[in-house]
Amino acid sequence: MLTIALSKGRILDDTLPLLAAAGIEPTENPDKSRKLIIPTSQDDVRLLIVRATDVPTYVEQGAADLGVAGKDVLMEHGGQGLYEPLDLRIARCKLMTAGKVGAAEPKGRLRVATKFVNVAKRYYAEQGRQVELIKLYGSMELAPLVGLADKIIDVVDTGNTLRANGLEPQDIIATISSRLIVNKASMKMQHERIQSLIETLREAVESR
Ligand code: AMP
Repeated sequence: MLTIALSKGRILDDTLPLLAAAGIEPTENPDKSRKLIIPTSQDDVRLLIVRATDVPTYVEQGAADLGVAGKDVLMEHGGQGLYEPLDLRIARCKLMTAGKVGAAEPKGRLRVATKFVNVAKRYYAEQGRQVELIKLYGSMELAPLVGLADKIIDVVDTGNTLRANGLEPQDIIATISSRLIVNKASMKMQHERIQSLIETLREAVESR
């Protein structure tokens, strides 16, 4: 059995056509189904539907052989214990700092709200900048508006969500897309099968 961990939403929507090109189609629509394990047209391939931030954990621990995760999630997770053989070039966005339009830099220590605390720690450490990090789980855009933080670090696509909240995108920390990730032991044990799936997916990505 080959188990592939995916998260609902953008990643699922963009990954299904790639899997279809490899002859793997879910037997029911994962967006509509309440099932968390979804069989596919191939008897020995199944999909696990998990939270985006949990995909690296399932794959690293071997509960899934493969997974699709955003580079943002992988950067935050650390990505140890995983292979990242293929950029699927889907769910593209940027990991950015953002703050209130026209706001001056604070005099004291910068307060940054984000769910990407590990990324933020590394980013400001590289700049030699002391910051106070505030861990949030969502709606980061609110933090500068109510004085919880001076800046946020979040993924940005069009920037519309920032602008709708009086914020502006500032510095790009990384350009993001989703990556195929593979458990290290699975890669050894099922090398030919996984390698051939990687190559088929690579062709599907390149012909898009
Ligand atoms: P935007 O187009 O910048 O307004 O983004 C819409 C919302 O989706 C914002 O909350 C972003 O943080 C989020 N977002 C945009 N692109 C991605 C992505 N590739 N993965 C996850 N979240 C995203």
